Amino acid sequence: MKLSPNNPILLNSSLHVDEARKAISDLVIELIEESKKLVDPSNIELVPLDQAINRILAQDLLSPIDVPAADNSAMDGYAFNGNCLGVPEDSVSLKIIGTAYAGKPFTGEIGKGECLKIMTGAVMPTGSDTVIPQELVSAQCDTSIEFKRNLLKPGENRRLRGEDLQKAKPAIQSGRLLRPSDLGLAASLGVPVLKVYRKLKVAILSSGDELCALGQELAAGGIYDSNRHSLTGLLNRLNLEIIDCGIVRDDPDALKEAFCNAAKVADVLISSGGVSVGEADFTKQIMQELGDVGFWKIAMRPGRPMAFGTLKPITGQSTARRTLFFGLPGNPVAVMVTFYQFVRAALLQLNGATLTAPPITQAIAESAIRKKPGRTEFQRAILRRGQDGKPVVKLTGSQGAGILRSMSEANCFVILHHDQGNVTPGNWVDVALFDGLL
Ligand code: AMP
Ligand code: MG
Repeated sequence: MKLSPNNPILLNSSLHVDEARKAISDLVIELIEESKKLVDPSNIELVPLDQAINRILAQDLLSPIDVPAADNSAMDGYAFNGNCLGVPEDSVSLKIIGTAYAGKPFTGEIGKGECLKIMTGAVMPTGSDTVIPQELVSAQCDTSIEFKRNLLKPGENRRLRGEDLQKAKPAIQSGRLLRPSDLGLAASLGVPVLKVYRKLKVAILSSGDELCALGQELAAGGIYDSNRHSLTGLLNRLNLEIIDCGIVRDDPDALKEAFCNAAKVADVLISSGGVSVGEADFTKQIMQELGDVGFWKIAMRPGRPMAFGTLKPITGQSTARRTLFFGLPGNPVAVMVTFYQFVRAALLQLNGATLTAPPITQAIAESAIRKKPGRTEFQRAILRRGQDGKPVVKLTGSQGAGILRSMSEANCFVILHHDQGNVTPGNWVDVALFDGLL
């Protein structure tokens, strides 16, 4: 898809959200290829484990050890040689010759008719391959135990060396968006630092004459700039570098200057406002000089108008590649929805992440939802468990694109797909949870 603002396909009809996503992803791939041609030694950094959360792994992490490092017991019980097990229901009696604790291995050998009292995690002693859990033993004293031969099979309740991870095999793959469990996994391998891609530099700005910064007195007809703050919150979930370019007036020179400044330092610029009908012509004119940007009508709600493309590299630019540009709509809910739909994935992809689709679940609509086929809608809602234990979902009041409270009170989006029509109470609908996502 050509991203030119003059492309009649984009001007006269609405883009399906999937087409928009595809066009964005294609352009991101172009930019990644472009940066491969640049000599950019700072692309990869070595960071201490505890700073690696939400960064993207730049190289497969190969396990330096077998995990577990030795065969060990999965239960508290008695380790012995499983040769004595079998079909007959008679009992076997074993002599206890010592005890093994986690971290305190038993150094002797288990012979025929012998066993070792063993704790979970303790190394299996030589000569043993099976553990009988304490609760399955029918008779025991300080010196011996007795149990039925057919209670378990040889090898049971033993964790094998390398069962979790084999030495030199990838423990975490390159491109992984690092989560808390990955940091724990790296630590369990004794790895204190990780190779991650450098932080993406993302510039944000709000445009509009009506906008007041926090701390300013609200002028007549003015509103506080909330978009920069919800965007900062969204971006902070991604552990990248935010460059706050503030509020920019609806003035061509001011806007041009702000865009140029952002393009000099940032990998990505996200602006909000100024792309709706009536304002777009003004922004279009500026963008024609500064880059290649399409002004899209997307078949979605909220978030219909959106500008997307690239800004030309500017001499002296530290990143020395084109800057990806998202001109999000001004309405506060539309900003968050378009970020979730398009921007988040693009940022991760540009930063080297292997993308996984956000998890979608389903719930029963508690009340009717009006929906016209021909556009994708992202309604804000609360997901909870209904009286019969099934998941139910209810919209959070008025769904206007400017009503941030609908977003703040919600814990999920109800996603109503392009071809979907009205929803009646009791219908199952797709739901995307905010937690762990935004
Ligand atoms: P626009 O896309 O510039 O036409 O803006 C659409 C609506 O969103 C208008 O009501 C604006 O006042 C509002 N708006 C634009 N930018 C912001 C912002 N940064 N914070 C809060 N509301 C905004
Ligand atoms: Mg405006």
